[in-house]
Amino acid sequence: MALHQGALAILENNVGVSDAVLLDPMTEEAFLENLQTRFKHNQIYTYIGTVVVSVNPYQNLPLYTPDVIDEYRSRNIYELPPHIYAISDEAYRSMRDRNLDQCVIISGESGAGKTEASKVIMQYVAQVSGKGREIDRVKEQLLQSNPVLEAFGNAKTLRNDNSSRFGKYMDIEFDFKGDPIGGVITNYLLEKSRVASQTPGERNFHIFYQLLAGADSTLLESLKLSSKPDDYGFLNKSGCIKVDTIDDAANFNAVKVGMEVIGFYRDEISQVFQLIASVLKLGNVKFVHRSNPDGTDGCDINSGQEVSDVAQLLGCPAKDLTSALTQRTVEVKREKVKTDFSEEGATYARDALCKAIYSRLFSWLVERINDSIKVKHEQKTKVMGVLDIYGFEVFKTNNFEQFIINYCNEKLQQIFIELTLKEEQEEYIRESIEWIHVDYFNNAVICDLIEKNNVGILALLDEQCLLPGNVTDKTFLEKLNQKCKDHPHYESRALRKNQSDRTLPHDAFRLKHYAGSVTYKVDGFIDKNNDLLYRDLSQAMYACNHKLIRKLFPEGNPSQKSLKRPPTAGSQFKVSVQALMKNLLSKNPNYIRCVKPNDDKSAGVLDLDIVKHQVRYLGLMENIRVKRAGYAFRQVYAQFLYRYKMLADETWPSWSGDAVEGIKYIIANQGIPDDEIAFGKSKIFIRNPKTLFDLEGQRRER
Ligand code: ADP
Ligand code: MG
Repeated sequence: MALHQGALAILENNVGVSDAVLLDPMTEEAFLENLQTRFKHNQIYTYIGTVVVSVNPYQNLPLYTPDVIDEYRSRNIYELPPHIYAISDEAYRSMRDRNLDQCVIISGESGAGKTEASKVIMQYVAQVSGKGREIDRVKEQLLQSNPVLEAFGNAKTLRNDNSSRFGKYMDIEFDFKGDPIGGVITNYLLEKSRVASQTPGERNFHIFYQLLAGADSTLLESLKLSSKPDDYGFLNKSGCIKVDTIDDAANFNAVKVGMEVIGFYRDEISQVFQLIASVLKLGNVKFVHRSNPDGTDGCDINSGQEVSDVAQLLGCPAKDLTSALTQRTVEVKREKVKTDFSEEGATYARDALCKAIYSRLFSWLVERINDSIKVKHEQKTKVMGVLDIYGFEVFKTNNFEQFIINYCNEKLQQIFIELTLKEEQEEYIRESIEWIHVDYFNNAVICDLIEKNNVGILALLDEQCLLPGNVTDKTFLEKLNQKCKDHPHYESRALRKNQSDRTLPHDAFRLKHYAGSVTYKVDGFIDKNNDLLYRDLSQAMYACNHKLIRKLFPEGNPSQKSLKRPPTAGSQFKVSVQALMKNLLSKNPNYIRCVKPNDDKSAGVLDLDIVKHQVRYLGLMENIRVKRAGYAFRQVYAQFLYRYKMLADETWPSWSGDAVEGIKYIIANQGIPDDEIAFGKSKIFIRNPKTLFDLEGQRRER
């Protein structure tokens, strides 16, 4: 609650209101205007109680120097303008001194500044915690995990030149003194479709371009690569290769250094690049149609060079790889026979293989980093977690990925409201003030619609995926329509009485999320959820004489008897989201809500419409409302008295009695009605911001 206390001091020497809970009137318009005013004066941070709202400045402001850190570290929080450092400090100190595990939940849409915010927190913690050889080594490893994971997990998109294409949760672990001794990273759902194709104007993952631009000729030669991205089908189709803000060659060196600092062995690093090269080469493999004598379709590989390069890189016979790329084994009457892929079938299988190699490589990198940074000796640790995860997404067309991402955000919103309410309630109990019931929109009903066992959308999707025979995205939609037709948050064209709504196509369903309605096209739901790789391909990978690729395809081990299906993408995500929620709920939460000011990445421009959408998706007004439902302002007695004692003769210039008594004189002197104020155990509570502003006004006039 320290932030509440701080609002005052900040009020007078700054622009706008630094804590939006004090806005008067409290309307969306006023909130937006306040953000805008502050933004114009480079005040990119604003509080809602203890939540930090951050507006991306798209320019380097002098906000992140070691001196600023020292200021926030050695001064009281309420003396200074809102900053991520302020909540980092709160979180860090209550973890260290009060033994409360913390988490910082960062949300916002792509390009809003989440990843930068997570780095700001890490930078803060690194500077304020202890020093020493071993501690510094750990800090360096934790910090170096960023450039490495960004190289493999980030890409240039239309929205953000350095867009994270995966969700990330990182626990930083500390010893009893509050010094970092290790960490654990969890990654969520890498957007692997990007490996094989990208939207025009976007790029593949950074590492591909970095490798080609930064590797010396010896390395390139050993990987059988040219230095030209244009030579590769996975890189040359989107019309974007070079990005002004990015120096691929320099970043490549940073990645190599990062990997070395983290503790990757030299041969591991080579193997990683061999896989990256293999993916690029596989992307160039082309198939040509062949008519078989029995009238079926088949295909051949038109040039053997790529396949033989990949075979060499991965250590397998080229003919085995060719066969796995052009045929698959099916079981007919208990007998295994090979059937040929059509041209399209082979391309599809090739892309699936590349996506599998890449996404498994990414997960392996995370595990490998964890191996290096984990706490070495069994000991009790204190933890600070940082969650940097995709915000609510609504595009022109929304697919399986948006469905999954928005489900995650729905869950985060659920715990956000729960925890905000809980925190308020706990303070009221601590202070012995009567709790005022707050009505709020409980989104459990939407979470259930998506995730409930047996009946939720994810369960229905799994059910379809497991059915033998002809399931399609269309039959999945029919199933949904049948099972969810009465749900108040589910809509589809088939269920609509008014069939003329063109905004809801026939091949889609619409969910009313807490943040608004989103229409999802069912195209690809079955396929993406199944996420299957032909067994011939996983076996071919496992058969390679390449340590890393074998590790990535354990299911290709032919001696593995059980042909149990791997869990679907949806159910895996559900399990990991549930584990995440459990983890977050076990910690004291801190929130950073990131907002993107415009769609052009321009400095100093805040487009109110664009910001308004995000304010809604982030549920910020609901947040303010919950915070405001009882008392908008609170402050410990001594501080309040000190500030306002000039307003009553009884307390001015010096008051030696009980602080509460003194405050009562001031309140009476100002004619403030009784029900406007509550006296807690250690703090005074004021219901309306206006009362506070009047006091401030009086104070200024004196
Ligand atoms: P997100 O992770 O939410 O998609 P990023 O954190 O990658 O967004 O931010 C996108 C870009 O915006 C960054 O690459 C940087 O150029 C700019 N940016 C974000 N936060 C800040 C900040 N606090 N100060 C300056 N620039 C920022
Ligand atoms: Mg990011």
